[in-house]
Amino acid sequence: MEDSLLWKDELHEECGVAGCFGVEQAAFPVYQALMCLQHRGQQGCGIAAIDSDGTIRLHKHAGLVKEVFGEQELTALPGTASIGHVRYPTTEVGGAENLQPFKMTGKTGTFALAHNGNIVNADILRRRVEMLGHLLVSTSDSELFSLLVGIGSKGWTENILSAVHQLDGAFSTVILTPDALYACRDRYGLRPLTIGRLGNGYVVASETCALHFIGATILRDVEPGELIRIDKDGITSYRYSASEGGRMCSMEYIYFARPDSDIEGCGVHSFRKKSGALLWAEHPTEADLVMCVPESGMSAAIGYAEAGNIPLEMGLLKNMYVARTFIQPSQHLRDLGVRMKLSPVPSIVRGKRVVVIDDSIVRGTTSRQIVQLLRSAGASEIHMRIASPIYAWPCFYGIDTGTRDQLIGARLDQEAIRAYLGADSLHYLSVEALSEAAGGRKLCTACFDGQYPTDLYGHEDS
Ligand code: SF4
Repeated sequence: MEDSLLWKDELHEECGVAGCFGVEQAAFPVYQALMCLQHRGQQGCGIAAIDSDGTIRLHKHAGLVKEVFGEQELTALPGTASIGHVRYPTTEVGGAENLQPFKMTGKTGTFALAHNGNIVNADILRRRVEMLGHLLVSTSDSELFSLLVGIGSKGWTENILSAVHQLDGAFSTVILTPDALYACRDRYGLRPLTIGRLGNGYVVASETCALHFIGATILRDVEPGELIRIDKDGITSYRYSASEGGRMCSMEYIYFARPDSDIEGCGVHSFRKKSGALLWAEHPTEADLVMCVPESGMSAAIGYAEAGNIPLEMGLLKNMYVARTFIQPSQHLRDLGVRMKLSPVPSIVRGKRVVVIDDSIVRGTTSRQIVQLLRSAGASEIHMRIASPIYAWPCFYGIDTGTRDQLIGARLDQEAIRAYLGADSLHYLSVEALSEAAGGRKLCTACFDGQYPTDLYGHEDS
């Protein structure tokens, strides 16, 4: 874990993926989809495309999508099938060698692969393939995944099915082969992946917002435990595993996904608004105004304000011009960093009892500074309401949380957290309400209750 990533007290998604088949210059819609998925990863990005001769070309580099790709780079990726990836670095060390897609030539031929998530039994599989004499050049799970596909010799579909059978954890994946685009999700469905129709072709992407953006029609989600093959004859579905009942990451709904996306048929904005209403039902407050920590707390703040019939106000402003990757080494500069990112509006909060809605508290440092900012701007009472349960367990499925001792919810009880923040009151949403906000869908709630859907293969001890 890079410490510099932690000071922001924010959670970070590891990646987003996209793919396109049967569309002229398929790299262009993939590029547009990646632009729309940029919030899922800003370290680097890549696109692979296959031309009519079966040659796979790949361009990937550190940087934002708009920095890495221009017309020249995209035109150099001809062909009617393409995949792409945006990356955020998490537990993996290393740099450019971990960018995706990975291109590999195996026994069946050349292919490219990109995935979103974290494979929890990767260390075991890595040792196994190394004992067989295979060399891995990166720490990326995607290279391991690619190698497992590449060493197969029975045909693309069988090779991929053989690989996914060995994997455990989270992996929403796109694979480009000479004659098809494959897409699959892990058996728990921890990360989203949706299929759409674009002209006479098909597209897949981590979030529906990307499909809407490129003008595709949403068809359906790739199901948990499903591998789909898209080729000139259309879509073929393979069930490589019985679904484990679905365990979509609840943090996708709470924080990561864009509010204009739908995940498994549930609108992200609707989920957040409903969770805000349920937060009011569980923890009402007498107050003069409701405000959010911009911007992911906005939908829940609307729900809370509507349910409580309290005016919704803009008490905090986000400075749009402070880069998300802004990194400062010392605590003093970290404190300044939050002040640079968020500004209170004194004319709105002065003398007011304010309810501050945030999506989650991870380390607590940002929330504490927000309380201090509002206090110094004259707020008379500050009531923190968090639209998720207490975050007390690390994620092993591709979310950057740090270790358990870095999570304030693991170290302190609710009253001690309130005292640390300096708030007048603090309440969290219950796990039950989270499920209700998702219309009763089963969710992964492991970071709130420690109930991990998979074996952790010793990660819990690290
Ligand atoms: S542990 Fe938390 S962040 Fe990780 S997949 Fe589960 S719900 Fe999402």
